[in-house]
Amino acid sequence: MSVYRYHSLQFSPAPEHRCAAVLHSDVILPETIHQSSELGAGPSGPRRSPSPVHKAREAYVINERLDDKGMFARVWIPQGGVILAEHPALILPRDVKLESLAAGLEITGPQHSNPYDALFSRVDHKEIFALKDCLTKGVGASKGIFHTNALNIELEARGRDMPELQKYQALFLVTSRCNHRQLIVLLSCGPNAVWRFDPLTFKLTLSAVRRISPGEEITISYINPFLPRHLRRAKLQSRWNFVCHCNHCDVPWTIPGAVVQSDKARQELCTFFDDLPDWAEWCAGNDRRDLIDIHLRAMWARDREGLQGFRGGNGAARNVNFKDLAYTKHIDALVMCYGALGDVEGFRAWVAKAREAKVAGGPDSAAHVKVLDMWLREPRKFHVWGWKTQN
Ligand SMILES: [Zn+2]
Repeated sequence: MSVYRYHSLQFSPAPEHRCAAVLHSDVILPETIHQSSELGAGPSGPRRSPSPVHKAREAYVINERLDDKGMFARVWIPQGGVILAEHPALILPRDVKLESLAAGLEITGPQHSNPYDALFSRVDHKEIFALKDCLTKGVGASKGIFHTNALNIELEARGRDMPELQKYQALFLVTSRCNHRQLIVLLSCGPNAVWRFDPLTFKLTLSAVRRISPGEEITISYINPFLPRHLRRAKLQSRWNFVCHCNHCDVPWTIPGAVVQSDKARQELCTFFDDLPDWAEWCAGNDRRDLIDIHLRAMWARDREGLQGFRGGNGAARNVNFKDLAYTKHIDALVMCYGALGDVEGFRAWVAKAREAKVAGGPDSAAHVKVLDMWLREPRKFHVWGWKTQN
């Protein structure tokens, strides 16, 4: 039976790490999350952000004065650098209307007849209402704010034959400030940041997909960036009410076929890792360069289209569960190729790039960095060193 329940999720003992969620009973919650299905009283004490995991020394600032209230880099952020990590403030099912569940959830009452208002009252009012509403122009603002800003996430659920049970939308107080539309450098459909949500910890991580300079707006893609231009524009207009005029959408008319070329490149990048020749077969073959060239060309196309962070394939639109960014997958593949060729110079060059990417990803990668350092010192210790030359 389909049962949705209200949950008040607590991500840490701190009262501000609280999230209002409407979840199906089959959703698996991480053991580290404290939860209560009771509505009870709101958070006690002064209301603060329920969401950011760490707030010290942020790499970003939020510009409240701008209409779009965007997020801007405060410092240089390296490619792969973690910009922030945060838990959601509100989670709702993606394909079920909240209004149809509201009576069963018993979340509305004399104070809040609108179920969105009732849920918003469970989290930080001030910060959540500071988010932009581009849908309802003030009427039913809480609903408009939610649907303007919510990101599509997937949760773990029992009964994997029913994927709809895993589809949710979540509002994040900080990441939801990131715009799609970049106003100054106009690279919106090739965003400089990508977010990933881990359903095991309910934590979102926002990372830079290329180096971001101080003052630059940090943007994420609101849509599947592999879509052709006409579909990207249609989706952005229908849900967020704007026509995208970024440099990827408004490719210069003086270049014949530029739109077709960009659409084709995006389509190829979307299926790149699914269509890739098998590494072991390449190892057994005679051609030295072909697999290396395939990766180098794809990296170049990713740079041109601004898709360094997006792997494509099955996870293209969902953007979830991928620990590494797309460009690091190319780097790792090139390390494998040069290692198999026993090419010391090429191998060291790509291991150094892999190391740079790992270091930018933060302290969690320390063990991996140690291994890369060892390979830099002693390439011949690489597990597949010279395999291709033996054929
Ligand atoms: Zn665009």
